[in-house]
Amino acid sequence: MSPEKNEAGRPGQVKTVTSVSNPVIKDIRALVSQRKRRKEAGLFVAEGLKLVTDAMQAGWPIRTLVFGGEVRDQPMVSKAAATARARGALVLDVSRAVLTSITRRDNPQMVVGVFEQQWAVPGKIAAKDAALWIGLDEVRDPGNLGTIVRTADAVGADGVVLIGDTTDPFAVEAVRATMGSIFYVPLVRMSRPEFLKWRTRWPGVVVGTHLKGETDYRKADYSGPVLLLMGTEQSGLPEEMADACSQLVRIPQAGKADSLNLAVATAVMLFEIKRKTLEL
Ligand code: SAM
Repeated sequence: MSPEKNEAGRPGQVKTVTSVSNPVIKDIRALVSQRKRRKEAGLFVAEGLKLVTDAMQAGWPIRTLVFGGEVRDQPMVSKAAATARARGALVLDVSRAVLTSITRRDNPQMVVGVFEQQWAVPGKIAAKDAALWIGLDEVRDPGNLGTIVRTADAVGADGVVLIGDTTDPFAVEAVRATMGSIFYVPLVRMSRPEFLKWRTRWPGVVVGTHLKGETDYRKADYSGPVLLLMGTEQSGLPEEMADACSQLVRIPQAGKADSLNLAVATAVMLFEIKRKTLEL
């Protein structure tokens, strides 16, 4: 039997893999490249030692840890591998070619983890007095979504609601852009009709951002629970979503740009909403 045929791998064990056609490696590649596969399996891939360590520290269930043989003796890698094994994950010590095939890069990350997706449920959203949630209507760009999750974490927001047909927060690019904040910021998903129904029970203000908003964002009332609603990159908030807001605000602009980038506009709003409570 060839060594590759011994590469089955059981949870809690360390196995060596050198073949890019190993079935476990093929499954991980599918998780990286196919949203459908991530959805079916309820899994996703985090690339890089920092993200993998952050996820495990935050208690996200790990299924598989993959590391390159050339970093096997680095203390942080051994520690991550020991933690993953103790949690029952399959641990794979692989060749550079295998990591290149997973990450689709010539200069691949040397550590990759497969984790279970975690979603918060709408019923569990507690709208305490200073609550701040961000609703993203049909956000398309994984970099924007990841940056918004990172900024939400930075200002201490309570979570992000993904409304309608959005990009996948568990795509490798989105996870990477969160810089680990995805492991700390609750994510909820809803269709537009579900959101519009849920919104009627929201006890505070619903602040929509709109290029036709009549209120300067610095003059709006952000007391009590705030639900901040941001529009999609292409066309902004559709009418039914804008109508669901208690106020529509605009960030004034000079110059020729017709709008701000979605993640930038979200950051401007979040720091304004938290201006009085964030301290050095
Ligand atoms: N062409 C789009 C439109 O007509 O709304 C531009 C969308 S913009 C790239 C993406 C989102 O960022 C907007 O839907 C809004 O939520 C927010 N945004 C961008 N610039 C803004 C501004 N100056 N004031 C308020 N919101 C803004």
